[in-house]
Amino acid sequence: MAEVAHQADVTEVGYQAGPLLEVDNLHVEFPTRDGIARAVNGVSYSLEQGKTLAVLGESGSGKSVTAQVIMGILDEPGHVSAGEVRFQGRNLLTMSEKERRPLRGNKIAMIFQDALSSLNPVFTVGWQIAEMFRVHQGLTRREAKQKAIEMMDRVRLPAAKNRYNDYPHQFSGGMRQRIMIAMAIALGPDVLIADEPTTALDVTVQAQIMGLLHDLQRESNMGLILITHDLGVVADVADDIAVMYAGRIVEHAPVHDIYRAPAHPYTKGLIESIPRVDLKGQELHAIKGLPPNLLRMPSGCAFHPRCPYRTDQCMTDTPPLYDVGGTRHSACHHWTEVIDDAR
Ligand code: SF4
Repeated sequence: MAEVAHQADVTEVGYQAGPLLEVDNLHVEFPTRDGIARAVNGVSYSLEQGKTLAVLGESGSGKSVTAQVIMGILDEPGHVSAGEVRFQGRNLLTMSEKERRPLRGNKIAMIFQDALSSLNPVFTVGWQIAEMFRVHQGLTRREAKQKAIEMMDRVRLPAAKNRYNDYPHQFSGGMRQRIMIAMAIALGPDVLIADEPTTALDVTVQAQIMGLLHDLQRESNMGLILITHDLGVVADVADDIAVMYAGRIVEHAPVHDIYRAPAHPYTKGLIESIPRVDLKGQELHAIKGLPPNLLRMPSGCAFHPRCPYRTDQCMTDTPPLYDVGGTRHSACHHWTEVIDDAR
């Protein structure tokens, strides 16, 4: 068994030359009255141009906090206590706000879960998209309107030209999310971060939005970070998956490896929780228990209270990210058993 001594070392493996974006041994803390909550604890991943990385985990796993650090929008009192975030080799965390501002939207853009609260209700959607072009590219009102309609067409809003003057509340949830996507990609970013972009939508619309994101990513060769708690929505769109639990990456692997034979009990539990039509009538599997309180983390492996594979070692020794072959890594002492069970 090849052991990787520290989780941070995963940054040394699995990279090709020149990643677009690198998160390197990131630590984020939130001071509270009851102590320090370590929301992100040594997370490392990288994103290549034209690739999609799905970052997966339950609420509180640190996936969205990591994205907020990348965007430079982390809410106080949260702060980065260690690590780097490099965009095209430059550390974003040592840049001034003046240096970072032009990157936001132009180079790295983000779409959020709740499109309705992200759109301004008192302006038409066309005006809001056109504003991106006026402010960032200095286009005239007429030019910006033309570009906005092109973007509305690009995200497949039906009758885009006729709906330019409609307000956000006049669109369905799925259509509003398309408008948010149009605004996010308007300036041609190199990296798009989509934070739970389909959570508020029904299953059919979820699939349409995922398909749209996938097509746009391919057309423009962006790097896409897809943050989700739902492993079921990323199978057809992601290249790699990083599974997060309690602030750490517990499995990182190509998407097909993860679905074929997960190497971590948590990932295995998530896969078994996906509803399947061929198992109609059978009880849906659920991972027992709840994610830990970040102020009272379990000893050893943070997943041990919920893990059917746990041994005494798990309760005392924090597992490093083991190299499990290829470009796969798992933070589980017993990853060989987990893989064997899936085969
Ligand atoms: Fe389960 Fe132990 Fe692996 Fe943690 S290290 S996931 S407790 S088997």
